[in-house]
Amino acid sequence: MARIGAFPTERRVTSADLPTMSPQITGFHKQFASDNTAGICPEALTALAAANEGFLPSYGEDPITRAVCDRMRELFETDCDVYFVFNGTAANSLALASMCQSYHGVVCAETAHVETDECGAPEFFSNGAKLLTVPQQLGKVSADAIKAMVTKRNDLHFPRARVLTISQSTEVGTVYSADEIRQLTAVARNHGLRTHMDGARFANALASLDCAPADITWRSGIDVLCFGGTKMGLPVGEALVFFDRALGEEFSWRCKQAGQLASKMRFLSAPWLAMLKSDVWLRHAAHANTMARLLAEKLRAIPGIGAPPPQANAVFAQLPPAVMTALRDKGWYFYDFIGGKARFMCSWATTPEAVEKLAADVRACAAC
Ligand SMILES: *Cc1c(COP(=O)(O)O)cnc(C)c1O
Repeated sequence: MARIGAFPTERRVTSADLPTMSPQITGFHKQFASDNTAGICPEALTALAAANEGFLPSYGEDPITRAVCDRMRELFETDCDVYFVFNGTAANSLALASMCQSYHGVVCAETAHVETDECGAPEFFSNGAKLLTVPQQLGKVSADAIKAMVTKRNDLHFPRARVLTISQSTEVGTVYSADEIRQLTAVARNHGLRTHMDGARFANALASLDCAPADITWRSGIDVLCFGGTKMGLPVGEALVFFDRALGEEFSWRCKQAGQLASKMRFLSAPWLAMLKSDVWLRHAAHANTMARLLAEKLRAIPGIGAPPPQANAVFAQLPPAVMTALRDKGWYFYDFIGGKARFMCSWATTPEAVEKLAADVRACAAC
């Protein structure tokens, strides 16, 4: 078994079969800790239930999985190879492992999820490739920082830099423009590096940029994309997209060995198909971004509170420690371990009422 589906193919996804209406998002909640605290969006849930009909081939040989792989090739306007794994750590780690030998180095921001939040999985799955962290500004790496790292050493006592990985959107909620990505991948390529994008929040990044998915991936020099599904409203699952198909040649085996090959693959892939129809994914992501913008606006209007305009779905607010404590006492959930700021993360399920009420409580807490 090599790749799933074929391209071009007669088995094309047609636009008509799934509901295109945005769900009514109503109700009040106090959960802003992460976008993965939200449930499954209605379209994905409907697709999941619909996929539960009868018997279908397993391990990705089913027509639903084939259809979503074809849809991905349409979406990205290129003949890429697509795989599904259960989570983002596996997606990143297995992608990087397939781009590296054990003696290679992976250049990343010091704030990158692969460095700070994956428990050494990229190193583990690559049998020892070393993450080479570089300074960042607002979560983004610069061409100069990459150049400095890859030219620092070229003796055999230091890992050989082979991959650049960037996050889109970044861990601190910023978004790389297509131009910025092109500059970084050009430097990488000049020094013999391949390029990987951690797109756990690819949907939010794309929704905030006015461009095609291809423009910020392969057309800007990205070789492999981890396309996040979970945070955009799927029950579980991330897609791995190999624009350079040679890099994914033996990925099926790597994926299976790592325990990431779903036997009932249709339940990973069916929600993807629903999301990618009629831009459902982008509408949900745009909603999350809008909620973040709204929250930041409301917070900025409060004396003493700083909240720069978000580029994607995360609001990072400068709140006095006493205000954070008071908010938690009122039952609000958010993180404060990233950059010393309060992080409020919005999702497809974030409601305007919750944003309204949160801002009102911040105002009340800041006043006492
Ligand atoms: C959430 C996230 C991931 C994936 O994390 P898992 O918990 O392993 O699914 C990867 N990268 C970034 C930047 C993330 O925010």
